[in-house]
Amino acid sequence: MGCLKEKINVAGFLENSLVNGEGIRSVLFVSGCTHNCEGCHNRAMQNKEYGEPIELDNVYERIMKNYPLINGVTFSGGEPFENSDILHKLAEKIKNNSDMNIWCYTGYRYEDLINSGRREWKELLKNIDVLVDGKFLKELKDESLRYRGSKNQRVINVQESIISNSIIKLDV
Ligand code: SF4
Repeated sequence: MGCLKEKINVAGFLENSLVNGEGIRSVLFVSGCTHNCEGCHNRAMQNKEYGEPIELDNVYERIMKNYPLINGVTFSGGEPFENSDILHKLAEKIKNNSDMNIWCYTGYRYEDLINSGRREWKELLKNIDVLVDGKFLKELKDESLRYRGSKNQRVINVQESIISNSIIKLDV
C-alpha cells in the first residue's frame, strides 16, 4: 500500500499502554461517536471535530516508532467504526508491515457490524484481531472486568468468529 495522505481526527494517543488490551500497546483515540452512552468515559470525543486532524501516515509512523516494544495497537474513541472509511487503510498498513495484533473498541455489536453489508465496516473488520463490542451501559458497570467497562461488552476473537460464523470470545 502506498502513502496514506487522508487525515483522521485524533482525539488522543498513548505510546504504550498496558490496560487497553493484552500486552504493551499503542492506543489511538479517534473523534466522533453517535452512541451517546449514559456515563460515557469521554463526552468530548463524541464530537467528530474534536482533536487534531493528522495524516494517516503520520499516525502510522508514530505507531511504528514504538514497534517492536509494543506488540499491538488499539483503536478506541470515540467510535472507530464511524471512521472506518479511512481507518481501515491504517489497519491494513499496520498488518502488512508488522506482526502486531489490532484490538478495536466499538459501541456497535459484532452482529450489527458483520451483518451490515457496509463495505468499509467489513474492510476494517478484516484487519481487526480482537473487538471489544457494545455500548457502555452504566447499570451493568463492573470494575472487576478486564479490558471492558460493563458486563454486556464482549472481548471477541474476530477472525475465528468470521471463519466459524459464530461468536468466539477471548478468554480474558
Ligand atoms: S461508545 Fe464510547 S465514546 Fe461513544 S458514547 Fe459510548 S462510551 Fe462514549
